[in-house]
Amino acid sequence: MHQSGSNGDSGMPFVRFDNVQKSYDGRTLVVKGFEMDIEQGEFITLLGPSGSGKSTVLMMMAGFEQPTHGEIYLNGNPIKKLPPHKRGIGLVFQNYALFPHMTVEENLAFPLQVRNLSKSEIEKKVKRALDMVRLSDFGHRRPAHLSGGQQQRVAVARALVFEPELVLMDEPLGALDKNLREEMQYEIKHIQEDLGVTMIYVTHDQSEALTMSDRIAVFNDGVVQQLATPEELYERPVNAFVAQFIGENN
Ligand code: ADP
Ligand code: MG
Repeated sequence: MHQSGSNGDSGMPFVRFDNVQKSYDGRTLVVKGFEMDIEQGEFITLLGPSGSGKSTVLMMMAGFEQPTHGEIYLNGNPIKKLPPHKRGIGLVFQNYALFPHMTVEENLAFPLQVRNLSKSEIEKKVKRALDMVRLSDFGHRRPAHLSGGQQQRVAVARALVFEPELVLMDEPLGALDKNLREEMQYEIKHIQEDLGVTMIYVTHDQSEALTMSDRIAVFNDGVVQQLATPEELYERPVNAFVAQFIGENN
């Protein structure tokens, strides 16, 4: 059934969302039965208008929110038993800021220190992460002394420095201007492919999703309208919502 990237005999994909539902108030479902299998190395985008439930899905994957119904599996195991810091997931959230009192290097070393790596290993990995986002000359600066784009590069480096198998990004480029946003789209995509890391990426920007993704889940009102490759979405939208939403910026 599942071939490449599946987990041994379990037949489970790397990530499985199984009928995942979420209500914050005990009445209204804001995620209504999300189903998706993700293989290792895929770049998956959750695309949809504001309020459609994208961030809620990421928060449940990260462990900051619990599903009301359903189950999320990572490597074949239900993740609900794992606290957030044990999930081995790299995060780049809009409100997940850098530590202002730490230099860039210290920000990058932090996720490694909490994992008890040796000093020499930490130095090596921090250097590699800085190289990856082309900030080798900025290691001693504090975040306030970096441009918005540079700060976002540090956030990306910090999410990757401990070599997670899975990275979650929630509108990571939302605050950047158009040129920088396009540059960073290619940079993030390049790094993701280079490392072979699995990505779940959230955006409301159609062209961003079409550029970066292997597959896209189009959300509206807590429901996936279509789950498809960029080409399929563009050429064969399954309903009026998808056709209109995908067409908006083109
Ligand atoms: P998106 O990321 O697509 O904009 P969200 O997942 O943030 O969507 O929100 C989906 C719905 O859930 C929205 O109606 C939003 O107001 C609501 N919501 C999100 N977070 C919370 C929360 N912590 N408490 C209550 N309602 C929330
Ligand atoms: Mg959101």
